Amino acid sequence: MFGFGKATCVFCDHRVASKEVLRARDWKDVAICVGCYESWERAGRKCGACGTVVHGPQEVSAFDKPRRTFGHADCGGMRLVR
Ligand SMILES: [Zn+2]
Ligand SMILES: [Zn+2]
Repeated sequence: MFGFGKATCVFCDHRVASKEVLRARDWKDVAICVGCYESWERAGRKCGACGTVVHGPQEVSAFDKPRRTFGHADCGGMRLVR
């Protein structure tokens, strides 16, 4: 079992089980762990691009610039799928 079923989170560089990651829809190599997502949720779901809150029904994307965080899919970034 060498690295099977694991993915590396692009935000925190941790190796996590692949069922505990979020994937970016158009970026096959990108995985972001649920832990990073949940800490963003706890921090208030602020969009890293425009600074306003991402509301529940809105699509979420991941940004790697200017810092690693989440935000509105409409503001750019990598759209997430679960
Ligand atoms: Zn992570
Ligand atoms: Zn935004």
